[in-house]
Amino acid sequence: MAQWQRTHTCNDLREEHVGQTVTLNGWVLITRKFGHQNFVDLRDRYGLTQIVFEADNPELFAQSELLKREWVLSVTGVVRKRLAGAERTDIPTGAIEVEAKILRVLNPCPPLPFSVTEFPDEELPNEDLRLQYRYLDLRRRSLQRTLLLRHRLCKVIRDFMDAHQFLEVETPMLGKSTPEGARDYLVPSRIFHGEFYALPQSPQLYKQLLMIAGYDRYFQIARCLRDEDLRADRQPEFTQLDVEMSFVERDDVLTLMEQLAVEVFEKCLGVKLTTPFPRMSYAEARAKYGSDKPDLRYGLEIVDVSEIAAASEFSIFKNALAAGGVVRAINARGAATQFSNTALKPGGELPKVVETYKAKGLAWLKVEGGQLIGSIEKFFPAELKAQLCERLGASDGDLLLFVADSEAVVCDALGGLRTYLASRLKLYKNWWDEKAEHDAAEKKKVEAAKKKKESYTPVPFQPRPEHFRFLWVIDFPMFGWDDEEKRWSAMHHPFTAPLDEDLPLLWQNDSLGQVRAKAYDLVLNGYEVGGGSIRIHRQDIQSRVFEIFGMTPDDAKARFGFLLDALQSGAPPHGGIAWGLDRWAMIIAGTTNIRDVIAFPKNQRARDLMTGAPAPVEQRQMQELGIELTAATRALLRERQQREGQ
Ligand code: ASP
Repeated sequence: MAQWQRTHTCNDLREEHVGQTVTLNGWVLITRKFGHQNFVDLRDRYGLTQIVFEADNPELFAQSELLKREWVLSVTGVVRKRLAGAERTDIPTGAIEVEAKILRVLNPCPPLPFSVTEFPDEELPNEDLRLQYRYLDLRRRSLQRTLLLRHRLCKVIRDFMDAHQFLEVETPMLGKSTPEGARDYLVPSRIFHGEFYALPQSPQLYKQLLMIAGYDRYFQIARCLRDEDLRADRQPEFTQLDVEMSFVERDDVLTLMEQLAVEVFEKCLGVKLTTPFPRMSYAEARAKYGSDKPDLRYGLEIVDVSEIAAASEFSIFKNALAAGGVVRAINARGAATQFSNTALKPGGELPKVVETYKAKGLAWLKVEGGQLIGSIEKFFPAELKAQLCERLGASDGDLLLFVADSEAVVCDALGGLRTYLASRLKLYKNWWDEKAEHDAAEKKKVEAAKKKKESYTPVPFQPRPEHFRFLWVIDFPMFGWDDEEKRWSAMHHPFTAPLDEDLPLLWQNDSLGQVRAKAYDLVLNGYEVGGGSIRIHRQDIQSRVFEIFGMTPDDAKARFGFLLDALQSGAPPHGGIAWGLDRWAMIIAGTTNIRDVIAFPKNQRARDLMTGAPAPVEQRQMQELGIELTAATRALLRERQQREGQ
């Protein structure tokens, strides 16, 4: 071992090491000068140790005066107890410090674009700057913590899958497009000019082929790529836990995934989940919550009042019903005083919410002194008002909100309103918000104790099972009507099997909208965290499904001939699921920013701000690929480069 190399990490030393000579390696987090003493907090991935340079060693002291943030050091010194009152209870090495005897600067650096901070509540530079210098950002304790948790999550998953006979098999990145409903990233072939590989949107077909090949139980922590417009919780490349099993029915997959979720939550968060998770059909979820991924942490259920509305004098309700629509309502309990009549008027706060879902308006009633008062009160005789109150369980202080339209619009609008109301009325708390409150309160206790010269060890926050409301949504419709393309498309993906009892409907063109699929989604707190299905394993059914999507037998053969052949080569019944691993990591790490759980993420416009990707390539490279930019594209590129000062 070279003399400068560490004997301990920056998180190892405790009181029992007092008197020992040690060597630490790490980065200068911060320096503090106190007359005859210079302090350095030395940081590595494991933790933090305080180093002290004493003025009675003038040469070393002078050397320490020069130290700057983020310099890389090797310090040899003697462990000693900190002075009484100078201990830190928030770090494991808080009782000791190292009195430096030898300092070696392994690498100095000029002042950096921003300081690496230790605490999550310290002010951060803007995210673009942090993404540009991601290697500095990754030095922050909070990002190290999330990546560590992500590692733990993958480890727990791998151990569990291994213990359950699953094989991890890698599938190609360069392949043929698997339709998962998104746009493909394409890679031009150098050998076959004019032909392209597609990067995988998911390993869907490969995992099915592995089942046909007899591998029985497959999993992969798989990278998937979809060229979509990005949202807060999306990245162009993301990770799935991808699973496939042979000779299974839906419940086998669901039960196993519940066991895995229990293991993950226990080992990563110390939370004991209860199984089985509740299940709900797609139809019920849409009707009750207006969504196929309802957040069950709060009520605000949607109630059908079509019958009562039909007997009213309100023409908007009656017309919607006559056109085959529905009238449904939400009772926002106790919320009458939270929304002024202006907030409820057309163009007001709540009508604006439902309008984004194509609803034409929002009708409302408030319950005051046993009376229903509001925009539509005059259209409802006393008897109907009483019926409304009964159906909606309404009492004083409640606000009743109605939408009348086609069923799809009503579901979307009230579903959207439900989520809006829940966050506006603060009907739920994310565990990390509760943790932030808890930590702030504990910090105050530490400070109060310090003032009284006492010590107080903060109690860590422990999330509880009720912070996590899981739900399986099952029995999805098999097909959705694509109004733009005027054809049926798959609600899950084209390889999903229909429910056995709905199979005959597949051959009745006017009943395709009623076919339900053996598909399931795992929902957690309103996020879809997993989805899968039992697959079609019969060639004739798969061919019929392709036909329903408008493919001729020749199209189907050209695109999916390999699958159709494989299905005729001894395909076992099989099914599986994929978890959105980044979302799981987000929930476990307690963040709502997906970039926090990915080491090197892209920004909202799919650009890597650190390397600059995507970037132009040399003419020679394009020639090799048989590709030429059009004059218009070249002009656009030049303009962009000038604008961005490249
Ligand atoms: N391949 C599907 C997806 O990416 C998951 C599955 O059906 O297993 O959503």
